[in-house]
Amino acid sequence: MRILGIESSCDDTAAAIVEDGQRLLGAERLSSVLLQRRFGGVVPEVAAREHAMAVLPVVQLALERASLRARDVDAIAVTQGPGLLGALLVGVTFAKALALAWEIPVIGVHHLEAHLYANALVEPLRFPALALIVSGGHTTLSYWSEHGKLLVLGATRDDAAGEALDKGARLLGLPYPGGPEIEKLARGVAGPPMFPLPIAKLGTSSLDFSFSGLKTAFEELTRRHPDKRAEAAQSLQEAVVEALCRNLERAFERYPVSQVYLAGGVTANQRLARRVIDWGASAGVAVCIPPPVYCTDNAAMVASAGYYRHQLGDSMGPQEGPKTPWALQDVWVGGI
Ligand code: AMP
Ligand code: MG
Repeated sequence: MRILGIESSCDDTAAAIVEDGQRLLGAERLSSVLLQRRFGGVVPEVAAREHAMAVLPVVQLALERASLRARDVDAIAVTQGPGLLGALLVGVTFAKALALAWEIPVIGVHHLEAHLYANALVEPLRFPALALIVSGGHTTLSYWSEHGKLLVLGATRDDAAGEALDKGARLLGLPYPGGPEIEKLARGVAGPPMFPLPIAKLGTSSLDFSFSGLKTAFEELTRRHPDKRAEAAQSLQEAVVEALCRNLERAFERYPVSQVYLAGGVTANQRLARRVIDWGASAGVAVCIPPPVYCTDNAAMVASAGYYRHQLGDSMGPQEGPKTPWALQDVWVGGI
């Protein structure tokens, strides 16, 4: 089954065709990040306008790259939420119209669920698994027992991990998005961090995350040591990686699975990857981290998630629109 995936929840307009949830046939993506950079972040109206201009050519190019025509597509999957409302509206409305014209079903996909399916493009999924999603807007740790069955174990109570890196980068005068810039700057610094930063403790049983205290401490650090930018960047990166790994390891104590899946833009970070892979090797857990092109927002993951949702009997009704906010737990019905 060939599914056309469409992603427009933030600043990337993306389309991809995926066969049977696993095999990428063709993809195209246009990011408005350079335009957004002028504003220091994503401006919702700017993102929506860019999607409106880009979505049709991006879909056409993805089909061209796959050497496919409209009649070769069996269904459309689109990010239905959560995300920027105006941005989602463009993708959802376009997908519904296209599905109507092509007389095929349309499936609305949860953006975070889609991030997890980036792993299905790398290898056949194995359950049960622990799943860690770390992106610009979300930090979520879940127990994934099978397709359609997931239990959210912890999420951020304030800023997302990517947001903490983005804000930290801004304090260092680095451009948006800040995560890759922090990584680049930190690469020149070896050894333990010069400035140990606080990692939120939210009680012994909690698997939630909190990055707002870290942000405040980092702000203070940059004021006190303006000449130690690389050391500060490395300290911030280490603190974020430590916070993520600590909860993952804690979750593993309660749910001793043999598979861990990572997803989201921040998992492009090589330091995080190294830490999780090393831990996996010592704990006897297989770790899958999709390549960066599948970690950041893309449409192949949307098409893959759409395939498995379709298998579960999901489709989007004619009167449905974007869903935002939309809690991940609400999508994943059913017990463990
Ligand atoms: P997403 O929301 O999934 O599109 O991911 C975007 C987020 O990932 C932003 O906060 C980026 O700063 C962050 N990001 C992207 N690449 C890296 C990297 N190499 N290291 C750390 N964070 C990154
Ligand atoms: Mg995302």
